[in-house]
Amino acid sequence: MGKVVGIIGAGISGLLACRYTRAKGFNPIVFESQASVGGVWTKTIETTKLQSPKGLYQFSDFPWDSSVTEEFPDHHKVLHYIQAYADRFDLVRYIKFKSKVLNITFEGEELDGVEEVCAPWGGLEGSSSRQGKWKISVEDLIEHSTKVYEVDFVILCIGRFSGVPNIPEFPPGKGPEVFHGKVMHSMDYSALDYRDAVELVKGKRVTVVGFQKSALDIAMECCNVNGVEKPCTVICRIPQWNVPDYMPWGFPMAYLYLNRFAELLLHKPGEGLLLSLLAYVLSPLKHGMVPEHSFLETLSSCLISTVPDGFYDNVDKGSIIIKKSPTFCFSREGLLLEGEPVPLKTDLVILATGFDGQKKLGDIFASLKFRDYLTGSPDKTVPLYRECIHPRIPQLAVIGFSESIANLHTSEMRCRWVAELLGGKFKLPSIQKMEEDVGKWDEFMKRYSGKYYGRSCIGSLHIWYNDQLCKDMGLNAKRKKGLLAELFEPYGPLDYAQP
Ligand SMILES: Cc1cc2nc3c(=O)[nH]c(=O)nc-3n(C[C@H](O)[C@H](O)[C@H](O)COP(=O)(O)OP(=O)(O)OC[C@H]3O[C@@H](n4cnc5c(N)ncnc54)[C@H](O)[C@@H]3O)c2cc1C
Repeated sequence: MGKVVGIIGAGISGLLACRYTRAKGFNPIVFESQASVGGVWTKTIETTKLQSPKGLYQFSDFPWDSSVTEEFPDHHKVLHYIQAYADRFDLVRYIKFKSKVLNITFEGEELDGVEEVCAPWGGLEGSSSRQGKWKISVEDLIEHSTKVYEVDFVILCIGRFSGVPNIPEFPPGKGPEVFHGKVMHSMDYSALDYRDAVELVKGKRVTVVGFQKSALDIAMECCNVNGVEKPCTVICRIPQWNVPDYMPWGFPMAYLYLNRFAELLLHKPGEGLLLSLLAYVLSPLKHGMVPEHSFLETLSSCLISTVPDGFYDNVDKGSIIIKKSPTFCFSREGLLLEGEPVPLKTDLVILATGFDGQKKLGDIFASLKFRDYLTGSPDKTVPLYRECIHPRIPQLAVIGFSESIANLHTSEMRCRWVAELLGGKFKLPSIQKMEEDVGKWDEFMKRYSGKYYGRSCIGSLHIWYNDQLCKDMGLNAKRKKGLLAELFEPYGPLDYAQP
């Protein structure tokens, strides 16, 4: 009987983890608090579409159906595609729906000592007697009962953009408590069905705080309902590079950023002298190819949002008003913005201020030490080797925390990698070596992502990152035919399809 792998979450990452561990002969058991698969795509703002082109957001061996012709399908189609994948690989039977994981506890020897030179696992089958077990405490949301499951390995696929909202802090007497209107987080707005959302905003002066994808989509929905009569105000703390689509300058962005040549311009973690020299020599070119250096920063921190169709037309018409204000607080009638003497009068404030994914990740561990490992250091990225494994947390992988601009593909590569690791195809390096590698990626993030380094993103080094995974798995990292194609053709999921 194969060892049991406990997978938490049945979004794309959990489904992929289930599929690939199953393929290696393990027994996956997936715990999902919701009633269906799909994760974030089950509760989305009605007008939300895929932001990545669908060619980048697809399973390597299960392409989009030819009936989906749009480059950026709407969220219904994305969810349908994910459900079809679960059906195709018969994954639903491994999932326990309405099963919320309360916490996980490791029982066994911890990888604690600095003297530890070799991680004691790297393959579950025939593994050493030193291995411990994880206890997963699960609440059955239908029966209202709790059960503990024992598993050999845990894959955390709990997602980063849901669950724990990021709510700004305010000085006493300046927070939502003094405001006469309603305040909600975008998470709660997204959970409404479209008719309720329309009813909620109809005829109201709505202010949306934030300038990322959810903020822009909500502003569009409000202005579609209220028009210029009751314009929707968007508070932008820091202007971002939001692009109209992935052809922002009339040229496919993939050719600028998602090929090996583009990656030659960047210093990479663990690069040798030659690549380092190349990055140094070529870097001026980069500035001729992009309008501003900060676009690279945005890409390196996965902060690119696509602007909904017609957004700026509505700004021109006056049904959306953008106000820049690095800080804000509440008054009785509305919001006090920096440099504005009178409050912005408003009835409804929607905080599209994102999520605290790191807290959500830490909170699932019963052990305070493990929590601290993942959330402890404000001046470092979450320390995951290959963006999957904490060097000091045994028998556990995290998928989907570190981002890319094609998260489905990235989760698939990581799940394949974890499954090969569990199957014993390769071993992890020593804790010390993993920590050194994590440190190099941390330096990379600080170099190219500026103040956003903590976002854990491999957006600008996707191919280099995949190269490391491929090498570990014993696969050829060069997936194209011919030198020119290798250098200049964009890389995507289908390049990594298994033969
Ligand atoms: C509006 C929006 C648009 C996006 N657009 C794109 C895009 O265009 N391109 C792109 O690459 N990425 C996009 N993303 C990022 C998106 O998060 C990923 O693409 C991907 O869907 C994440 O999948 P996941 O499985 O890792 O996490 P999730 O989809 O968040 O799934 C996590 C699952 O874990 C479950 N779960 C969490 N905690 C527990 C628990 N304690 N017990 C049991 N179950 C639990 C949740 O219920 C959920 O089903 C978008 C995100 C949002 C919010």
